[in-house]
Amino acid sequence: MQMTLYNTFDRTLEEFETLEEQVVSMYACGPTVYNYAHIGNLRTYLFEDFLRRVLEYSGFRVKHVMNITDVGHLTGDNDEGEDKMVKSSRESGKSVWEIAGFYTDAFFRDTKKLNIIPPTVACKATDHIQDMIKLIQRLEEKGHTYTAGGNVYFSIDTFPDYGKMAGLRLEELQSGARIEVDTNKRNPKDFALWFTRSKFENQAMVWDSPWGKGYPGWHIECSAMSMKYLGEQFDIHCGGTDHINVHHTNEIAQSEAATGKPWVKYWLHGEFLIDDSGKMSKSKGEFLTLSLLEEKGYDPLDYRYFCLGAHYRSQLQFSFDALDSARNARLNLLERVSDFLMQSEDRSGLQDQDIRKYISEKGKSLLARFQEYIGRDLNMPRGLSVLWKVIKDQDLQSDEKLLLIKEMDRVFGLSLLERASEERKGLEPETDAEVEILLRERSEARSVRDYSRADEIRDILQVMGIEIKDTASGTTWRKKV
Ligand code: AMP
Ligand code: ZN
Repeated sequence: MQMTLYNTFDRTLEEFETLEEQVVSMYACGPTVYNYAHIGNLRTYLFEDFLRRVLEYSGFRVKHVMNITDVGHLTGDNDEGEDKMVKSSRESGKSVWEIAGFYTDAFFRDTKKLNIIPPTVACKATDHIQDMIKLIQRLEEKGHTYTAGGNVYFSIDTFPDYGKMAGLRLEELQSGARIEVDTNKRNPKDFALWFTRSKFENQAMVWDSPWGKGYPGWHIECSAMSMKYLGEQFDIHCGGTDHINVHHTNEIAQSEAATGKPWVKYWLHGEFLIDDSGKMSKSKGEFLTLSLLEEKGYDPLDYRYFCLGAHYRSQLQFSFDALDSARNARLNLLERVSDFLMQSEDRSGLQDQDIRKYISEKGKSLLARFQEYIGRDLNMPRGLSVLWKVIKDQDLQSDEKLLLIKEMDRVFGLSLLERASEERKGLEPETDAEVEILLRERSEARSVRDYSRADEIRDILQVMGIEIKDTASGTTWRKKV
């Protein structure tokens, strides 16, 4: 399957080619675990899951690395404010380690509920301090750093390509200096690689280093951990669009300055989920979490379906009305799949067979269209429209529909067949024999054109909560939802 992806680095759609044949090395910036993830954060992890599933569907093996930021992320991305973990610890009275453990578990619980495939490697910043120190030393040896006020900074003037991805111009950066200025910095866009006690006296997490006891800056952790697990050059780096200007710009500068080589081939960024105020932010206090949606009666997969409805490079506005529509569409989908399961004549495990051997010309062309859409920069909404075409098609048999649905759901991750058959199992009546007797009687009545008796039996079944369907191959039944 051919794949093109939009590379933020040069703002173009590019044919996807990996460094190593059939293997994708992919790094995704993970959560800062000082609070619950909000559903905006989760949109980004869903986008990364769609990406991974499409890559795997295309036949690649994906090595997916994600960091857990449990130290070093200040309340501002530009080294302003205090450490987010420390702030949360101070406010809650719990230790930073307790906070990190609690919210890391909560994060993985949420992603599991959303059917997000766990990363191949999930690595904590606090477990990789020595890797960060080594990387800072490498930068120091090459003359890219300076120490001021006890902190070690990266000097962006030593890296002429600084800001290329974000379209920043070096000469404008000095004059365009913004907000809170760290007077230690030679250039306001320089960034901290290592903080020592000189800046934060009461930092709870500190480590020994050649520059004194302290802790790392946020950006260095992603460079150190991605290169540790994926090598000095790898295929894909992703995150939300907010990371383009500062975090990813700084990651590129320090990684390429250290190795002297181009670092990442494809940069992919997911657009934001916004609420009616235009922003979704944790700092506002109240924010939408997956648990909150569950408390309101939604299934986490309703939110997954909702996110599938928009392209990852478009902003998506959240509202409960829109989530209701997603829920209805997903339930409708399950009901249709449940019907196909009921009608399916497959008694031979056909659903477990290789789809290409069994599929009709029409099925093949629908599948080809689906692959074309998802392969073109992950156009999941268009892919979803092909799934609905399969569902509504008049010619395809139920067995074949089920094969196609199962195939497409490898990418959508909605557990369609599993959920639909679970639903059916739960609904199977205990009164099979009784239903069968009534159905036989109804069929005999119909064969002698006694339609009033046939309708009477249908009504009796209805009262029993049994829904029947007359098909060419006979009458099928199920308990109503
Ligand atoms: P954080 O835990 O704040 O480091 O953010 C985790 C991920 O969520 C990052 O990749 C951010 O870019 C992304 N993100 C933050 N806010 C939003 C939002 N409103 N919509 C989508 N992604 C977001
Ligand atoms: Zn990162």
